[in-house]
Amino acid sequence: MDTRRRRPGPPLCASAPPREQKAPRRTFAVQAPPPIGYTAAVTLALILSAIAMTLIVGVRYLLASGAFALATRARHPNLYAGLDPQIRREIWWSLASAAIYGVPAGIVAWGWQNRGWTRIYADVHDYPLWYLPVSVLLYLIAHDTWFYWTHRWMHRPAIFKRAHAVHHASRPPTAWAAMAFHPIEAVTGAVAIPLLVFAIPIHVGALSLVLTIMTVMGVTNHMGWEIFPRFMWQGRLGGWLITASHHQRHHEQYGCNYGLYFRFWDRLCGTDRGLGDFARAHAQAARRIDAAGAGRVAAHRRGAGQPAGHRD
Ligand SMILES: [Zn+2]
Ligand SMILES: [Zn+2]
Repeated sequence: MDTRRRRPGPPLCASAPPREQKAPRRTFAVQAPPPIGYTAAVTLALILSAIAMTLIVGVRYLLASGAFALATRARHPNLYAGLDPQIRREIWWSLASAAIYGVPAGIVAWGWQNRGWTRIYADVHDYPLWYLPVSVLLYLIAHDTWFYWTHRWMHRPAIFKRAHAVHHASRPPTAWAAMAFHPIEAVTGAVAIPLLVFAIPIHVGALSLVLTIMTVMGVTNHMGWEIFPRFMWQGRLGGWLITASHHQRHHEQYGCNYGLYFRFWDRLCGTDRGLGDFARAHAQAARRIDAAGAGRVAAHRRGAGQPAGHRD
């Protein structure tokens, strides 16, 4: 098992290897003596890998959230009406989070390719075929557990005020809120998968599936309507899975429904309060937007010397 992993190369902090020493079997680039030194070249490669991964995460976010925002406009044309300032804020925080997600992912991806780090395998026969779906499930369960407990921690008053309030400023959330996190929260999310790949073996294709599920659920859980069939959020199976209906209630009531994919931890810890109410959340948002608009008009008229109740 896992016998095809490459031999580890020299540590990152090593200085240039002596000339007579045999060069590593496969390094990131350097066959000829590097002009700027071995350590500097490795550092540069790590930085480039982190930048590349940041771009991938950022573009993936824009494409996924953009696609589901378009689907929302087609299905519920006015659902995000009046939420443009909030959506701008969600995109800004999400792109900042993409940079934070890209750094550990880029470093680990470089180490996997060039140093044999991680337990990611490329040959599907390195493990039994039945392990493919099991590994996906293991990753989702581990990620969900990490998310549940870090999420609960972020609802403690001090850290909520400092970090998690950014995510809850989306009321109601939209498809663009998937990665709208304060940097502290983004760090807790960014390290989960890069740490798991050192602990649990996974085929590179299965890992892609995990990342796809993570992206799709991150976006759709905040979309403000239910895209999945009823059996996924009601009934026997739905009672254990998390989709937008469940996460909506978290954004309505805060102190409940902390999970990411499964309701297991919420049920076990007594924090599951069932499904949210999309119509009520959007009606409340519409009232807030109307009140804010009326306030702005009144202030404008006061500034122009007109009575607040004056109607044109
Ligand atoms: Zn959320
Ligand atoms: Zn929360």
